[in-house]
Amino acid sequence: MEPLALYIHWPFCLAKCPYCDFNSHVRERIDQRRFAAALRAELAWEAARLGRRPLVSVFFGGGTPSLMEPATVAALIADATTLFAPVPDLEITLEANPTSVEAGRLAAFRGAGVNRISLGVQALDDTSLAALGRKHSAAQAIAALEIARGLFPRLSFDLITARPGQTLTAWRAELRQALALAADHLSLYQLTIEPGTAFEALHRQGKLVLPDDECAAALYDATGEEAARFGLLAYEVSNYASPGSESRHNLQYWRYGDYAGIGPGAHGRVTLGGALLATRRHRAPEPWAERVEAHGHGSTEETPVEGPERAREALLMGLRLAEGIDAVRFAARTGVTLDAALDPDILARALDAGYLARAGSRLRATPEGRKRLDALLAALVV
Ligand code: SF4
Repeated sequence: MEPLALYIHWPFCLAKCPYCDFNSHVRERIDQRRFAAALRAELAWEAARLGRRPLVSVFFGGGTPSLMEPATVAALIADATTLFAPVPDLEITLEANPTSVEAGRLAAFRGAGVNRISLGVQALDDTSLAALGRKHSAAQAIAALEIARGLFPRLSFDLITARPGQTLTAWRAELRQALALAADHLSLYQLTIEPGTAFEALHRQGKLVLPDDECAAALYDATGEEAARFGLLAYEVSNYASPGSESRHNLQYWRYGDYAGIGPGAHGRVTLGGALLATRRHRAPEPWAERVEAHGHGSTEETPVEGPERAREALLMGLRLAEGIDAVRFAARTGVTLDAALDPDILARALDAGYLARAGSRLRATPEGRKRLDALLAALVV
């Protein structure tokens, strides 16, 4: 049976951040009981058809899942570990924002069974945090990191780079401050302007100016250098970890393994009856809950992913990883050989230029290749 990662989406936030295009919603009042019951029902429905597969990871994402009741988190973990067959060192991650309210609940999440916390720090200076519309201060972020470090065996934090006005010196200082707090994992997001966000309107009016590509590249390089000083290596384009602390959940995505997505807007890739299905749940929270209440699930779409599309998806994911793609597993998973999925001329040129490297059955993008991965993939993948 294919090992499975489980993603659970909590779609609510305290406020909408102006750069965010995630499936997150603000409500005056959230019916916690209703959404807890719907998540549990949809999980049971998914498990009934997938069978008792090895479960390698549970990930509570959002939205802001640290706004969930800890009892709901505990119930979902209990359900997941009963309905599936958890591996002995099951990774259970919860994303949390470092507001004081959420930091006060961290101990309860640890008690619920969460063993890895991912803190949405985003920045460690108050001006940037205010500009990003965040509801916490730098001091609160540091306090939350310290609390989390005392509670959880594994701790990751997110930072946003290429922010307006960001300088290399300030970024290095900020990174060192964050890395010194002994996290084992860092996820870095480059600020981008997404359609439909408040930042898009400001950007269009010329009121929000992002660093140019050269500056963004320098910030990226500095991140790798600072992370390495603290023993965190770039194992993926935007993720750094001490050896052994890589996110097993995200590795399941990047290695193109099976994952089930539960909750509003959640996506999945699950093997069922020999087919690989792309699954998607209804995005809007209340209609999703109504569908679950009526049918046991909130699916809107389930499409088989055929060989060539599997190959494309596996390449887009796998070349993000420093370890790259294993050609044998690639062929077994997609039904397409690695060479057949790549443009031979572009492959030869990328190997010559040092953007790709081959060793044994593995193909990987080098650090230089990962810096220009989007352009490389666009040309390389047939
Ligand atoms: S807290 Fe996260 S998910 Fe919610 S609006 Fe902000 S960036 Fe988006």
